[in-house]
Amino acid sequence: MRPIERGPAPRVYAEYGDAIDDLVDRLGRYCSYCERRLPVSLAVEHMTPKHLHPDQELDWDNFLLGCTNCNSTKSNKDLSDDETLWPDRDNTLLALTYARGGFVSTSDGIDDPDLRARVRMLLDLVGLDRHAARGWPPPTDKDKRWQQREEIWEIAEETLGSYEALERSQAALSLIVTAALGYGFPSVWLTVFDAYPEVRLALLDAFPGTSKGSFDDLGQPVNRAGGVL
Ligand SMILES: [Zn+2]
Repeated sequence: MRPIERGPAPRVYAEYGDAIDDLVDRLGRYCSYCERRLPVSLAVEHMTPKHLHPDQELDWDNFLLGCTNCNSTKSNKDLSDDETLWPDRDNTLLALTYARGGFVSTSDGIDDPDLRARVRMLLDLVGLDRHAARGWPPPTDKDKRWQQREEIWEIAEETLGSYEALERSQAALSLIVTAALGYGFPSVWLTVFDAYPEVRLALLDAFPGTSKGSFDDLGQPVNRAGGVL
């Protein structure tokens, strides 16, 4: 889950749904949680549930973009800021590890029990680590997020092979970025190209709304200023 920056509120909204175009403009057509790209049917997601906190229903800083699976799993979960991590204030990519096969898990380096509990809560919030080959609860029939991560991982690996075959040319790098933007799942691409700082930096630059301050000069995630992680 890439760390994001939505920036200051573009305007005041009469209805929360009116914010969709501004959110897409700032963050791209990607679910803020699972990172899939959705040409349509992305929704304005309230981090803090609107019916429990009506005062935040129109609050730009409470908005993310959510797909149906993430939205329905998150439902009305009402978490305080000291219970979990959020992609708009923490470096959520540092907290999670993506692996071949569509798996997502807590990063190995997260040893502090409180922090581990927060990452667990983040995974549970939208069921991000649900996978047909692992544990409980299993993904529902309609939940294909793990499958899409698996597919995109394979596509990213294919482009990596082409990148090497083309001697890491600038043209090949441009095609990788174009493919990544088209397929979504930036964290998968960043992981597959972990050893390629020039690709990572190009990806971080290309995905709208990525928190640049959450990465070092090689495009590796670092602790985010003001965040828990
Ligand atoms: Zn999603």
